[in-house]
Amino acid sequence: MSQLHEPQFALHVEDLTVTYGAAPALWDIDLDVPPGVMAAIVGPNGSGKSTLLKAVLGLVAPVAGHVRLFGQPLDAVRNRVGYVPQRSSVDWDFPTDVRDVVMMGLYGQLGWFRRPGAAHRARAMAALAAVGMQDYADRQIGQLSGGQQQRVFIARALVQEADLYILDEPMAGVDRPTEDIIIALLQDLRDRGKTVIVVHHDLSTVERYFDWLVMLNTRIIAQGPVAEVYTPETLRETYGHRVALVKA
Ligand code: ADP
Ligand code: MG
Repeated sequence: MSQLHEPQFALHVEDLTVTYGAAPALWDIDLDVPPGVMAAIVGPNGSGKSTLLKAVLGLVAPVAGHVRLFGQPLDAVRNRVGYVPQRSSVDWDFPTDVRDVVMMGLYGQLGWFRRPGAAHRARAMAALAAVGMQDYADRQIGQLSGGQQQRVFIARALVQEADLYILDEPMAGVDRPTEDIIIALLQDLRDRGKTVIVVHHDLSTVERYFDWLVMLNTRIIAQGPVAEVYTPETLRETYGHRVALVKA
């Protein structure tokens, strides 16, 4: 069964339009992200960044267009995609401890009916150690600070051993040490050939953190290597006159 379409891209989006009511949240999006890059998606509040990630992950249905991941529809590659949602969109009151949250990242490989064993628990603990949260394995997720919760969700994505990581504002509301840990982990994934796509809110760190950039405001304003597309002109077109070019 071969239905490969644009397999040279980790993510290929074509003619994508999404509406919630009358007004489009995304309009006629064409987007290609090559494998092995660390890409930022930037744009003002309400510009459709989260909606774009949700459409890629099949969490909202487009009125037009299609998405391919490594040339295939999402259903064929779901296990190869790790997703960290925007923290504010998660219900933190569910009574689950940190280890179990991380183990959820393994269900794609385990299936829902196979019980995880010692090897899986060890992988979950290794991922927690990678984000500096090994001492919190038995805590309830709702009792952690925002930055700690974010680290746990990144550990959950790490155990998946995905090929594409998609994160919605992982650095929002976290302290500086947490931000440094998250960025180092994501850059390490990129250096190992994984593809990382991050909705990012801080323009002052775009050039330092990322090598690929997507500028969005309901439609695509610019996309490509950061050094080529991050300019005063594209910033103005994306944000209006509210921001000037910030050099780190
Ligand atoms: P961003 O992540 O860039 O801030 P969003 O993708 O969350 O933007 O939202 C894009 C637009 O769609 C906004 O105008 C927002 O109000 C609207 N929107 C987002 N989610 C919903 C929803 N579930 N129902 C109705 N409108 C929504
Ligand atoms: Mg958002």
